[in-house]
Amino acid sequence: MEIKRATARATKVGAEECFTGQVWQDEVIAETPPSRMRATNVSFSPGARTAWHAHPVGQTLYCISGIGRVQLEGERVQELHPGDTALIPPNTRHWHGAAPDRLFVHLAMSECNDQGEGTAWFEKVDDEIYGEAPEAVA
Ligand code: MN
Repeated sequence: MEIKRATARATKVGAEECFTGQVWQDEVIAETPPSRMRATNVSFSPGARTAWHAHPVGQTLYCISGIGRVQLEGERVQELHPGDTALIPPNTRHWHGAAPDRLFVHLAMSECNDQGEGTAWFEKVDDEIYGEAPEAVA
């Protein structure tokens, strides 16, 4: 058995071209063939969010702490709370991040496709879109 120790893996800063605001990434697992599973614990400072992006076979987001936001292009912004699981469909432009005034931490899980392709990144989410009021939680 291999155990990847926390002490051997420093927290990484989210790439500037992929995020707005301060974002921190703790790797859980990177793809290790034959598994395609990739999981990262992502911490967003208040107001921080991903750029628009898409995952070839979708993504699962499990919300751990704080209050977050997620939006599929063409749909309302949704608020996320601890214990929520958001299912991002394949090849669908979307973004996710923290609420404007709250920290947010989620576990992001995804896989590459048969061609080995991973996340496709696009433009950043501007303040007007990010600032839209989220849909009320039922
Ligand atoms: Mn995503």
